[in-house]
Amino acid sequence: MSGLCMASKLLDAGIADFTVFEKADDIGGTWRDNTYPGLTCDIPSRYYTYSFHPNPEWTRLNPPGPEILTYLRRVADERGLRRFIRFGTDVTCAEYREGRWYLTTADGEQAFDVLVTATGILRVPRLPSITGLDAFEGPVFHSSQWDHSIPLPDKRIGVIGTGSTGVQITAALGGRVRGLSVFQRTPQWVCPWPNMSYSRPARALMRRWPALTSPGYWFWGWFVRFGFGRGPIQPGFQRRLFSALCRWNLRLSVRDRELRRKLTPKDLPMCKRMIFAGHYFQSVQKPGVDVVTELIEHVEPRGVRTADGALHELDVLVLATGFDARAYVRPMNVIGRAGLRLDEVWADGPVAYRSVAVPGFPNMFMLMGPHSPVGNQSLVPIAEDQADYALWWIRRIAEGEVVEAEPTETATKSYNEDMKAAMPQTIWVSGCSSWYLGKDGLPELFPWVPERHAELLATPDPRDFEVRASQV
Ligand code: NAP
Repeated sequence: MSGLCMASKLLDAGIADFTVFEKADDIGGTWRDNTYPGLTCDIPSRYYTYSFHPNPEWTRLNPPGPEILTYLRRVADERGLRRFIRFGTDVTCAEYREGRWYLTTADGEQAFDVLVTATGILRVPRLPSITGLDAFEGPVFHSSQWDHSIPLPDKRIGVIGTGSTGVQITAALGGRVRGLSVFQRTPQWVCPWPNMSYSRPARALMRRWPALTSPGYWFWGWFVRFGFGRGPIQPGFQRRLFSALCRWNLRLSVRDRELRRKLTPKDLPMCKRMIFAGHYFQSVQKPGVDVVTELIEHVEPRGVRTADGALHELDVLVLATGFDARAYVRPMNVIGRAGLRLDEVWADGPVAYRSVAVPGFPNMFMLMGPHSPVGNQSLVPIAEDQADYALWWIRRIAEGEVVEAEPTETATKSYNEDMKAAMPQTIWVSGCSSWYLGKDGLPELFPWVPERHAELLATPDPRDFEVRASQV
């Protein structure tokens, strides 16, 4: 999604001398790799759309995963982006030397003036270290590597994990398979969210006049920023409202006290990534669905053995256990000025200047870099703001005005100190474990309202950069 965004913006700016490297054989990133049952984006579809490429075709308020992939493919086709993409090409190393970035692929080395990374965030599956996982007789796979060759209705399926992914899978499969065991280590708050349809006539009108999609883009943008954008980061009305919605949802949806007790989190709503789902609690109460709260002891050939000694017999085991959120551009080996390795710079955790650049790595810009506001904003406008920021520098480099630019250590340090100081008021530090938290126990997120991120990137401040200008 970010790479296509950058490519579109470069073309719109009249810059066509670029190459997009894609490891896979098709576009789509997360929406190509994730194909699990129930896959849906919990951000409103109108605001999960590039501002420069409206989509009248969304069928629902929250877009089903396959529709997002279709949209991204259409953007690539309609904007003629595919001819710039080298598919099936894994960049293993990016090294800055003699004023240029040298990218290594299986085809050799190629030099570029600017490097933009658009490698996503939740891309590297995190597999649990559970004893005996290899010994399980049936298929075992991570949620992002769904095995569609297995017919599900006659199977007993185990789902390990109850994050956004596990909840969507459970909501889709509950009552539709022979058995479903949901292994819940920590209960999660679930905000009720009706996923309404856009009617055929409404879609036909928007297809005829795409400008009719604009009010939806601005309304849902405002709604996300004003609600989800503020709730986690500051006390106030939004935090109280989301908390109440989560508590009411559980109370009104689950009448059985014992089950409600099992499903009641100890941490505060929104401390972990808030889950928006319409049917999760209904699904776990369907016949054949079992919420297992005993800790997993080990896996054996026939199923999962829990700490109480029970064997949960299964045919298929799904690992909805999340992703390594700290990978960012890695495992690509990124080497900056004078042999400086990104791995070393990030040894204590990834840091960046305003989420987009790193001292010592000139002419390198990141989309979805460290501390992007991914915990309180739609990822599409984040990518757009970051791509615009990169483009500001790229234009100057293309015009010969700037040869080399990198953020200063001082500006980067001061920005990261400000962020750290703002973290304690966020709900993310209120005492839960989540993929948001870095090595130092602080969230690797943006602790302010999303508009501030947009403002920080809207007007690049060259005083925060070491700039080598052209001699001419
Ligand atoms: P996640 O939020 O990191 O959840 C992983 C789940 O696996 C947690 O319930 C965790 O339990 C459990 N788990 C991990 N290791 C385990 C083990 N060894 N034994 C038992 N349980 C274990 O991952 P995710 O659900 O894939 O979601 C990741 C993020 O993707 C979300 O937060 C969201 O940002 C994004 N996402 C978004 C959408 C969307 O609609 N936009 C949909 C899906 C995902 P603990 O809580 O105890 O650690």
